[in-house]
Amino acid sequence: EKGGDCMDRDQYVNEWFAQEDDVLQSITVGLKKREMPQISVPPSVGKALYMLVKICGAHNVLEIGGLGGYSSIWMARALPSDGHLISLEINPDHAAFAVENVEKAGLSNKVRYQVGDARKSLESLESQRKQFDFFFIDADKESYPYYLEKAIRMSTPGALIVMDNMFLQDRIFDSSNQDSDVEGIRRTNNLLSQDEHLDATLLTVGDGLAVARVK
Ligand code: SAM
Repeated sequence: EKGGDCMDRDQYVNEWFAQEDDVLQSITVGLKKREMPQISVPPSVGKALYMLVKICGAHNVLEIGGLGGYSSIWMARALPSDGHLISLEINPDHAAFAVENVEKAGLSNKVRYQVGDARKSLESLESQRKQFDFFFIDADKESYPYYLEKAIRMSTPGALIVMDNMFLQDRIFDSSNQDSDVEGIRRTNNLLSQDEHLDATLLTVGDGLAVARVK
């Protein structure tokens, strides 16, 4: 029987619905060994991303914030054989480790990392008139409002825009906290809830996952 006495909701989901294989487990170990930030999404969010990509039948995913490739791999595994994922990552060491992991997972034909500041990469993709039917935004929180606005402009009708850390470990509820990341998330939640081009909500999985559908 799985589960122990002090199991929280996310742990329960992780154990029952989001088991990691060797490749995914090795990313967590590898990030630690390389002294890179250990801030991949938890398995529960990885599986939620996988489900959302499958359910909406996405073919072209754009990720902002790739780190070691953990979330890229969950999403790429849900893509059809002709599906593609581009991940924007500012740190070349992170991107190199992600490429290694994507190769290990046998997904190199589907996943590509674009190294550089996501703001620049987005401008370049937009000028090439690229469009995507699924976005996963998981980079610097201050830029979330900008990333959201760009995603809307580069989306196909019915596209999903998914964003992580929408509760920022509950820091957004402390009204005396005006840190720039907290303000970035508050502003994004405001935009998500008000934008007439979107249907949106927050799922309380992990640290809060925004799911918005472009009308
Ligand atoms: N989505 C990843 C996962 O679950 O496996 C985790 C991403 S981690 C939370 C955030 C990543 O965004 C880091 O690797 C960081 O280097 C990258 N990042 C931060 N600011 C960025 C920017 N302006 N442009 C592109 N990437 C950025």
